[in-house]
Amino acid sequence: MFEDDYGAEMEAIEAERLDADMEQAEMVRRGNAVAAAERAGRCTHGSTVGYRKPAFYPEQEGLQPGQSRCTSGCKRVFSSAEDWYAAMDEAIYGGAPAMEAGQ
Ligand SMILES: [Zn+2]
Repeated sequence: MFEDDYGAEMEAIEAERLDADMEQAEMVRRGNAVAAAERAGRCTHGSTVGYRKPAFYPEQEGLQPGQSRCTSGCKRVFSSAEDWYAAMDEAIYGGAPAMEAGQ
């Protein structure tokens, strides 16, 4: 009984460690992809400013509520957070969808 509990606990600890390793690996993969995209001259839209009235940053001038503008270089306007995330993935992964959408 005690042996089993101990074994299960060690298994849980191992699984947690594996999760953390996979998370770390994913972050490294994304970091490498970002670096590669930037080397290829693509803006990865890593930072943006959101709508604010009155504008605090010049980049906020002319934005509508919900919109944001890339401040990483290209000044592209995003209509929503989803739009921004999609543009980031497109820039980072070269337009390949990160996930298959409901197929
Ligand atoms: Zn950009």
